[in-house]
Amino acid sequence: MDGEAPAGEKTANGDEEDRDEHGWFEAEVCIVGAGPAGLTAAIYTARAGLDTIVVDGGPSILERNAHLENVPGFPGGVDARRFLRGTERQAVDAGARVVDAHVEGVTQDGDQLVATTADLSIAANRLVVASWSDCSYLYPLDVATKQRGTKTFLETDGDGRTSADDVYAAGRIAGIPHQTVVAAGHAAEVAMTVLYDADVPFYHDWVTPEGYFTDRGRDVPPGCEEIDAETRRERESVSRERQRALLEEPPDEPRTHPSLGDETDPEE
Ligand SMILES: Cc1cc2nc3c(=O)[nH]c(=O)nc-3n(C[C@H](O)[C@H](O)[C@H](O)COP(=O)(O)OP(=O)(O)OC[C@H]3O[C@@H](n4cnc5c(N)ncnc54)[C@H](O)[C@@H]3O)c2cc1C
Repeated sequence: MDGEAPAGEKTANGDEEDRDEHGWFEAEVCIVGAGPAGLTAAIYTARAGLDTIVVDGGPSILERNAHLENVPGFPGGVDARRFLRGTERQAVDAGARVVDAHVEGVTQDGDQLVATTADLSIAANRLVVASWSDCSYLYPLDVATKQRGTKTFLETDGDGRTSADDVYAAGRIAGIPHQTVVAAGHAAEVAMTVLYDADVPFYHDWVTPEGYFTDRGRDVPPGCEEIDAETRRERESVSRERQRALLEEPPDEPRTHPSLGDETDPEE
């Protein structure tokens, strides 16, 4: 998200200057859904240099949580809405654009997949579906699904690839267990599949102390970065400030189950 909306707040329609001659957004990777899975996938694809757009049309199911206590790194737990805001900011920092829109359909246009919403189209080489609990917009692609009770999941090959070319499934929609970290971890793994399929020169996305590779006569591997002590201290200081600012934001109220409120999504 370049520009106008503050990090962590989805743009209404993205920035006008990002549109191509058809009025479409173009990206290498389009991710549908900005829950723990979609945002995590975006962190990894964007950090690896793939132009990434996340399209999200509603609240993550995690917004219904009262207090998130099983995510590593948060002793005492964390407000789930704050966790999502922080994760979205991290995706935006990594270079992803986040657009506020509901995906209604996906079609194939030559080599590209085009996701359409009420008022925009996003053309991408690869599509990551992280949109629990909706994959109905994929039906024109004849993608394989599996049914468990009332719930529909996407079938994958175990590495996140669905039966449709260049379409991947990450997080709960892929039928994995229903935990935030499981969804995020699964999405990171699916992002690795995307990088592999896209032939991105990539080893790891590690940040190491200066000399970690080069003092052993090795090149810094693709995707990795060596930083000196001053840069490390600067980054640590920025991180401390941003964590503090995030923690000082007042917690939001959890959403209720749709059957108790005015939302229509019946899942879970
Ligand atoms: C009440 C409750 C409490 C929970 N508590 C915990 C807990 O304490 N610990 C824990 O680990 N897990 C908890 N969970 C589970 C956790 O929320 C989920 O496992 C996790 O959010 C799944 O992540 P996801 O990214 O796959 O899906 P989601 O977080 O649901 O994200 C999917 C996103 O896709 C969007 N989307 C859907 N369809 C479309 C479309 N067509 N176009 C655009 N966007 C779309 C949705 O609006 C949503 O933002 C809880 C869940 C609930 C309901």
